[in-house]
Amino acid sequence: MLAYRMIPPEYTEEYEIKHVSFGRPHVVLLGAGASYAAFPNGDKNGRKLPLLKDFVEVIGLEHLMSEANIQLPFDDFEAIYSRIALDPDLTSVKGRIDTAVYTYFESLELPEGPTLYDHLILSLRRKDVIATFNWDPFLWNACHRNRSTASPPSILFLHGSVAIGRCDNCKIVLSRSQVHCKCGRAIEPVPILFPVTKKNYNSDAAIAAHWRNLQRALKECWAFTIFGYSAPKTDVEAVALLKEGWGRVNDRNLEEIEIIDIKNEDSLRASWDQFIHTHHYTVKRSYFESWLAEHPRRSCEAIWAQNMDCMFIQPFTPPRNSSFEQLHAWFKPRIDAESAG
Ligand SMILES: [Zn+2]
Repeated sequence: MLAYRMIPPEYTEEYEIKHVSFGRPHVVLLGAGASYAAFPNGDKNGRKLPLLKDFVEVIGLEHLMSEANIQLPFDDFEAIYSRIALDPDLTSVKGRIDTAVYTYFESLELPEGPTLYDHLILSLRRKDVIATFNWDPFLWNACHRNRSTASPPSILFLHGSVAIGRCDNCKIVLSRSQVHCKCGRAIEPVPILFPVTKKNYNSDAAIAAHWRNLQRALKECWAFTIFGYSAPKTDVEAVALLKEGWGRVNDRNLEEIEIIDIKNEDSLRASWDQFIHTHHYTVKRSYFESWLAEHPRRSCEAIWAQNMDCMFIQPFTPPRNSSFEQLHAWFKPRIDAESAG
């Protein structure tokens, strides 16, 4: 009698392009480290993205520090801002800091060629979700400039963004640059939430809705990528909400968690322990080594093929340092296969 053995098909690029089966989302969470990695030389005009340690210098808040009687060094903006926010005598200084920060972030412009954020948006499908803690306009604007090539994933702003506003009548989020909604109502800016322990995520209807959407997506997702987010001290509330969305670690033993960060693995493992089931996580040093970069628009399918179907998979990466034309041409067969299926 002949014995038949199942031989899995070879994981070629053609196989990856054709296999579009997932409805469950890939959720990507972006922290300050992601925008920093995406724009290492700053914006189009060389304006830098601040980190907490150089925030005061980059935004140019030194004069307000001396008004608030805060001495050098200014290397912990989280602590400085918390102190100012709690002091009723510094309400006016706080107001001017808020305005200066908003104005600075609003002035940032995307560089002309494709950036890491353009790659990220093109590498996810409409079912997927990017949730960001960053205020900068880059992610939103990158969605806009790629939308004629592919529908972007859902974008959620967990701490607000200078790029968005909301219409309370239609309950939608729109570009802040649009002054009026289609219904005729003026667009309200969505505030940016500063680093204080009690952020009050319910104070803005759009931010509250984005948190609810993220929690729903986390419950459903098959892959969760945490990129450049180190859960700072003032984000206790955020981590608790993420955890509530993710659920019990023992119920999530098959899903893939991926951490993209330059920190050492022990400290990352300690930060994300409540999310990680035994060994089901990987740490990548750079976005370009991630599931998204190596299996664009097919990340969930590729993780399934490797972990569940035990296939030997290899990466298929889009061209880096290319023009938009070349990048969009590379993605086209993948996007076409999705609508064909
Ligand atoms: Zn409206």
